[in-house]
Amino acid sequence: MPMKYKDLNIQTQREFPNNARTQGFGWLVRAGYLTRENQILPLGELAISQLHAKRSADVLALLPVLSNERETFFPLDAERGPLEIIHCPACNYSERIELAQFKKTPFSTEAPLPTEKVLTPDCPTIESLANFLNIPKEKTAKALMYTRTSDNQFVFIVVRGDMQMSEAKLKNIVGDVRAATVEEITAVGAAAGYASPVGLNARALIVVDDLIPQSPNLAAGANEAGYHLLNTNCGRDYAPEIVADLTQAKAGDSCVKCGNPLSVLTALSLATRYKFDFENILLALAETYHDDKGLTLPKSAAPFDVYLMHVPGKQMDTRAKAEEIYNELQAAGIMALFDDRDERAGVKFNDADLIGCPLRITVGEKALQNGMVELKPRKEKENKLIALDKLIEEM
Ligand SMILES: [Zn+2]
Repeated sequence: MPMKYKDLNIQTQREFPNNARTQGFGWLVRAGYLTRENQILPLGELAISQLHAKRSADVLALLPVLSNERETFFPLDAERGPLEIIHCPACNYSERIELAQFKKTPFSTEAPLPTEKVLTPDCPTIESLANFLNIPKEKTAKALMYTRTSDNQFVFIVVRGDMQMSEAKLKNIVGDVRAATVEEITAVGAAAGYASPVGLNARALIVVDDLIPQSPNLAAGANEAGYHLLNTNCGRDYAPEIVADLTQAKAGDSCVKCGNPLSVLTALSLATRYKFDFENILLALAETYHDDKGLTLPKSAAPFDVYLMHVPGKQMDTRAKAEEIYNELQAAGIMALFDDRDERAGVKFNDADLIGCPLRITVGEKALQNGMVELKPRKEKENKLIALDKLIEEM
């Protein structure tokens, strides 16, 4: 495994990328782990392979994660991200937004009223219907129509008009689906934009959200363009084959476990029951461990134990001495990144801070004349001198 700066072809960046979604991503780009386009560079590959070799549970323990029995998340400080999760700040319930459960409350408990067909011109959406009838969306039924891909079964779904259906929940219940075509909709006796499960023929599989049987007198389509039915009641006017949780939680809904208001967070998925996502774990580490100079990875997660560098000398061959130390460290099983460039000290110090190894060893002419090298922990300001023959022991 190459452990030398030149072999790894490390290119640190002076500027924070202006497309950085998060601080951690920006620092990984500046330190040469990733490109601005999120491609993994050799240093990043090495960091990820090192993470593979560590005990993943120990690495996850370094991060402020949110977990459930299936998946571990890392909340991101970003407006948008690859994943949204529902989180309860009170009890820590955490789940992907499309699978999260929440406590549903019936909007009213009034007695069922007789159905009434009403003219509702130009009301093909819940919005327009609620406006036209001057009722809250909670008093409407939203119809969604799909065809199951495995057997072309027509699936008719009803959720309360103010709620969003979760396709993930639907697929967990009925299998893979696609949107129904107009022909398929007509074939079961429904009308797009004015559809309801009332009066459909037997070919439709009716699936309703578990709040629908507790929601009396909903306005629903009359299966005739331009008409709706007032006061439809599930169970009385139509019989669902399946009643299940089908709707997506949103911020402010009540936690299914403790009843407190839920939040929506942007997150990374770090692990499922079957695998770890080491790229995301590296990003989560960078989010958690950085300062204003670069990464500050803890020893148990850093790709290297040591950043070893020489300051080019005037009389002495500091590079050869550093190479010697590098070989000794390797032999002792200490992972050292050897900055073998003949660059100025300042440039190397900056790069060492960016890359974030827990410890820096500097081989310079002045100290070397006394048989010493400089040792500096990444997170401390001061360095100390240590005798060469004590170095491995000290590590
Ligand atoms: Zn809760």
